[in-house]
Order: sequence, then structure tokens, then C-alpha cells
Amino acid sequence: MEGKRGNLFIFSGPSGVGKGTLRKKLFELVPDLCYSVSVTTRKPRKEELEGHDYFFIDEETFRDYIKANKFAEWAKVHGDYKGTLVSTIDKALAEDHDMVLEIDVQGAMQIRERYPEGIFIFIVPPSWDELENRLRGRKTEKEDDLKKRLEDARTEMEQAKYYDYMVVNNQLEKAVEELKAIIVSERCRIKKQDKTIMRLFNCSN
Ligand code: 5GP
Repeated sequence: MEGKRGNLFIFSGPSGVGKGTLRKKLFELVPDLCYSVSVTTRKPRKEELEGHDYFFIDEETFRDYIKANKFAEWAKVHGDYKGTLVSTIDKALAEDHDMVLEIDVQGAMQIRERYPEGIFIFIVPPSWDELENRLRGRKTEKEDDLKKRLEDARTEMEQAKYYDYMVVNNQLEKAVEELKAIIVSERCRIKKQDKTIMRLFNCSN
């Protein structure tokens, strides 16, 4: 990404909509993207790795991080605390890397306050039935937690209007193409290429 300023892409959407799968496919297609690994008090799932999926910490440590202002945003999501470290974002932006944050709507609103230039993308399911099918199909939650996630989905969807883009995850390939198009367009914005302009024309902005 030589000559370009880093972008923050914020992905939100209800649990089970397929954000993780979309992101993985997207990373295969689009070069120079990095992922913001969140901190959480949630217990790791079987296949999850420390530092790759999340940084897993206990609640006391999470509270210490809040007090020490280590979070760019944090929220209680479906009963667990989750947050993005300021250091994670600062490092990406200092190195002009494009970074994807996969966070809930409460966290996204905090990021908008702090980084108004972020690009906010909301991912929706094709229908409520399909969302429930997907959540049940992945078999990662017990019935109570699953119900909570479905309830939370209704509140989360009301926040979609505050985002810049919306992508319907009906067919995976199509949704990934749309995400790619958003990222490529955002990278082409003049204001994101001031370093390239300076280099080419040897002038300051
Ligand atoms: P899961 O528990 O299934 O990994 O994630 C549930 C939800 O937590 C996802 O919808 C995701 O957007 C949200 N989430 C993950 N990391 C963060 C974070 O750092 N901050 C906030 N606010 N939400 C997060």
C-alpha cells in the first residue's frame, strides 16, 4: 500500500450473519488487509486460538484495561466483554495499513466518535429465518445464548442506518464481491492518496 494512508473498515451485523466467513474470503481476495484481534472475557471455543481469534482475558484484567484507557472501544456483547485496543489501531494507522474491525454496533459508534474517517459496513442476513438457521447450524451456543443473540439481532439491525454501506449476505460470493468493491473504491479516494500525490508531483498538500 505504498503511498496510501491506512483505512479503518468496521464490519458489524448480527451474530450468525457470517461476518467471520466473509472476512476470511475477503482476505483471500484483497491484498494488504489486516485484522484487528479483539480482547474478550468470553471463554475460547474449541477451535479458537489465543492472539489469532481473540486475546482471552478475565473480567478483572478487562476492567484494569478500561481504567488504563487501553480500549479504543469496548462493550458488553451477548453477556461477555469485548474491546479493541488503542494500540492495535494506532499501530496499523502509523504503518499505513488497512485494518478490518469486526465489532458490534455499540463499539462501532464509539469508533465513529474517535475515528470519524472510518468506513462503516453493516452486514445483514437475507431473512430472520435464515439468520436463525445459520446460528443454529454452527452449534456454538446453548439454547439460552442463542435466543439472546437472536433478540440482540433485532436491536442491532435498527442501527444499520448509521452505517455507510450495507451488504446482504445471501450468496457468499456476491457478498464478498460487494465488500471488495467497497474496499477498492475507498482505497481510490483522492484524500487517501495524498502521499502518492506528493511523491508524484513533489508538492505538499
Ligand atoms: P462471538 O462471541 O461470536 O465471537 O462474537 C459476537 C459478537 O461480538 C460479534 O458480532 C462481534 O461483532 C462482536 N465483537 C467481537 N469483537 C468485538 C470488539 O472488540 N468490540 C465489540 N464492541 N464487539 C466485538
